[in-house]
Amino acid sequence: MSWQRDAACRDADPELFFPPSEDDTSTVVARHRIAVAPICGRCPVATECLRWALDTGQDYGLWAATTPTDRRAIRRARLAGIPDPVADAEPMCPGCALLFPMPAVDGQLCAACTERTIR
Ligand code: SF4
Repeated sequence: MSWQRDAACRDADPELFFPPSEDDTSTVVARHRIAVAPICGRCPVATECLRWALDTGQDYGLWAATTPTDRRAIRRARLAGIPDPVADAEPMCPGCALLFPMPAVDGQLCAACTERTIR
């Protein structure tokens, strides 16, 4: 992942980004989120980070200051055809957006999905 070398969190404590609780509504997760928000807020690769976390289904940690619950909501919205303004700057193929985010003409299948449906 070449974008990682430009990450603002490169020299930060990794434990900040992995709260010791899976309850995203807990105070401890909120505290960690408050701590990482300024770092992610000035990160030049936040979009790439969020896309990667979504596309690889990261179920733990704060990626681009999003919790797993936030990312599940974005993934559900993607499934419903609602693009995320940060992660989905480019139109995504509705056929494979969750697994293989391939650019496509908005609302149309990418070349790979088109080929699959033709067979
Ligand atoms: S957005 Fe946040 S978690 Fe992602 S690479 Fe940048 S600083 Fe790290």
